This record gives sequence, structure tokens and C-alpha cells, in this order.
Amino acid sequence: MRHVSSMSTAASGHWVGDGFPVRSLFSHMSGENSHDPFLMLDYAGPHHFEPASRPRGVDVHPHKGFETVTIVYQGEVEHGDSTGKGGVIREGDVQWMTAGDGILHKEFHSHDFTARGGPFEMVQLWVNLPARDKSAPPGYQAITDAQIPAVDLDEGAGRLRVIAGTFDGHVGPARTFTPMEVWDLRLNAGKRADLAPPDGQDVNVVVLSGAVAINDGAPITGPAVARLEGEGTFSVAAETGAKVLLLSGAPINEPVAAYGPFVMNTEAEIRHAIAEFRAGAFGSL
Ligand code: MN
Repeated sequence: MRHVSSMSTAASGHWVGDGFPVRSLFSHMSGENSHDPFLMLDYAGPHHFEPASRPRGVDVHPHKGFETVTIVYQGEVEHGDSTGKGGVIREGDVQWMTAGDGILHKEFHSHDFTARGGPFEMVQLWVNLPARDKSAPPGYQAITDAQIPAVDLDEGAGRLRVIAGTFDGHVGPARTFTPMEVWDLRLNAGKRADLAPPDGQDVNVVVLSGAVAINDGAPITGPAVARLEGEGTFSVAAETGAKVLLLSGAPINEPVAAYGPFVMNTEAEIRHAIAEFRAGAFGSL
């Protein structure tokens, strides 16, 4: 059976650009690669934005050596990048971007959302790439809500969307470089579910909202992350209606050297990435 080995709660919030009021639930920038293969998880919102005329967000910036996964719960994010592509990530959609060898992109509220305002809530997860894939061609998978299998859990416990990996025979649409499960769960108050991600993966139960007890332990009130050790099954029981992200992955077990939007294996590779970026090697936007 899997059991909780550590817990962390959200750090104090900060703004990413002027569009994303985030709380980091874990981050490699703390100096520890404690959630390998996952580097960082920022939970943006929930936050109410008034209607505006100019989209809020983050203007052109680089990424290299990893992937960014944007999961939109409420609101809309419009993005464009140096591969010449772009689009809108709507409620329930996921953008799985491979920065790989280097990309420039920008992330803003969509024009429609900016004009109408309203509640905004999203997660941005950073997923590391193994050394052999850090130079993968940049690009992204635009995954719509309709492409994500939504599975009803037994006994009315709630619903599970398979973004990556496999649950109960349902295969998530995201292509990943290393084995991982990314499951979006909505749990109903007073119900429980038994979960069994693949053995050999480290499991993170990210409670975004609500309160959840793992293996009948003390309830964990979101936003918070429980890290589980061991193999096999564990249970989640919702004290209240809860929104949970399960992140489970095979550790990459390589050194992490990071500087802002670059995540490599060595400091020399970081210096090289900065020099490449300054020389315009990531293209233009
Ligand atoms: Mn970015």
C-alpha cells in the first residue's frame, strides 16, 4: 500500500506577469528536485477579473529543456510561440508544450475573456525532460476537453479525467517522454475512491480545493500536496467536494541545473542556453 511521506502547503502568492495570481505548491527553484519528474506546480486563482480592454498576461519569454502543461479550469488563455503557432486554451482544455531545444512564447488572457471578465483558475505544471530529450523539437499538443476521457468513479465517488497515462483502461491523449499519469479528479463530499497508479512511480496528490483524507488520515485542506511512497493502492476520501490533481511519474534521476525558464543538467548547459537565447537561436515572435 502507498502511504503519505510528506506534505506541503502553498507558499504565499505572487503574480506571473499581470494575468496570473499564482501560489506555487512545489518548485525546483527551492533548490530541491523533490517531485521528480515534476519540477514545479503553480496554481493560478481562483481570481475574479473585471472586464478590461487590454489582455493581461505574460509577454514574450523563453523556455528550454522541459515541458509546460497548462490546465484551464475557468477562463481562457491565448498563446502564441516561435514555431508560428498559437491558439486559445478554453475551460477543460490542456496545452502540453514541449520547450525542448528552445522556444519563445507569450501567454495572455484571451480577448473574449478579457472583454467579459469573470472567474479565472488554472494550473501550470512544469515537467522535466531527460537529458536525451532536452533537445527535442519545440511544439505543443493542443488537447481539448472533448479529447480527454472522463470516467465516472465507482459508487458515485466523482469523476476522473485522464489527461496523461491510463485509468481503468482509458488512455489519456497527452504524449509524454517519460512514463507518467496526470489525472484530474472531482470528488463528491462523503465519498471515497481507491487509486493505484503504476508501481515504480512516485505519487503526488495535489488538493486544489476542498478537503481530502488519504488512507483515512487527517483531512488535507487545499491548496496542498501530499507525497506518497510505496507501491499499490491508496484511498482518497472527500470530506467536502474536492478538486484534486494526481501527478504520478517515474523519476528521471538526473541532476537539475535551473535558471529561470531554462532547466538543464549542468551549469555549463545553462550558460550555453542563456547565450543561445541572447543570440536569437530560439527564433522570433
Ligand atoms: Mn511560459
